[in-house]
Amino acid sequence: MLDIADEQRGLIFNIQKFSIQDGPGIRTTLFMKGCPLTCPWCSNPEGISDEPEIMVSERKCIGCKKCAEACNADAIYFENDMRIINWKLCTNCLECAKVCPSHAIQVMGEYKTVNEAFKIAAQDRDFYSTSGGGVTVSGGEALLQWEFVRDFFKKCKDAGFHTALDTTAYCPWENMEQVLKHTDLILFDVKHMDPAMHEEKTGVSNELILENLDKASNTTKIWLRIPLIPGFNDSESNMQKTAELASRTKAEKISLLPYHEWGKDKYSSLGKQYGHNGVEGILEPDSDVVNKCKLILESHGLEVELGK
Ligand code: SF4
Ligand code: SF4
Repeated sequence: MLDIADEQRGLIFNIQKFSIQDGPGIRTTLFMKGCPLTCPWCSNPEGISDEPEIMVSERKCIGCKKCAEACNADAIYFENDMRIINWKLCTNCLECAKVCPSHAIQVMGEYKTVNEAFKIAAQDRDFYSTSGGGVTVSGGEALLQWEFVRDFFKKCKDAGFHTALDTTAYCPWENMEQVLKHTDLILFDVKHMDPAMHEEKTGVSNELILENLDKASNTTKIWLRIPLIPGFNDSESNMQKTAELASRTKAEKISLLPYHEWGKDKYSSLGKQYGHNGVEGILEPDSDVVNKCKLILESHGLEVELGK
């Protein structure tokens, strides 16, 4: 029996129920905070920082000014009754979110113990058994909090739930190996096969990632996920190399995820800039490009689906 004092806590920014995009069947997906990569196309910027942070909404603000009164850093002021945040002054104390009556300022990121997260996941156990679903841990990069994920998955496996890990695998193998003991499926994010290109856009080389993928494929079922970014990874040679990787690691399935701008508005709500590292100006791939990439992968006998 785990002593509560030793129980791992995870910093989670979203728990999505009834997810059908994150593995087989109906799933509960935990989105963990913190990521060591800097992909400029990230559609979950609230998962990048490894600390709780505020996220603001113009639409929900009723102009009561309680947030400005609570802010000791003078980071909130009003112009023409419009709330403005000077992000450079913000110390991330989170006080404004505590007093906002309309959830126009919310805290992204809440610590939950393994037991607390498990109780939420277990509410939908009937859906898992009837749909062949289970739980998925995603991010951010889930393996930054590998001890929490390891213990959460162990508890889920003990309860008979299918477990899926959505990861970039940029982490020490020893940590990943511990998590994989309790993992049924890895949703493995592959951005680019060339180490220099990978580093240019994501801030890290892909060498450790690919090493971990090769090792993981010896023990755990793999699905690959490829964000399809025009001008970055949609060339024929990169697709051919990705297909070879999928064959070598016996990937059961590949999800092609065409680039989109759905997360764009979230950046300003977090005081972050969208379009760093040259992504501004990239258009969503047209269907010809998507189909060309799909055909290349399928020509290697791989099962390919288009995802979101
Ligand atoms: S989180 Fe930032 S804006 Fe909000 S009260 Fe603290 S310092 Fe002020
Ligand atoms: S406390 Fe909330 S509702 Fe009131 S002014 Fe600030 S952001 Fe708007």
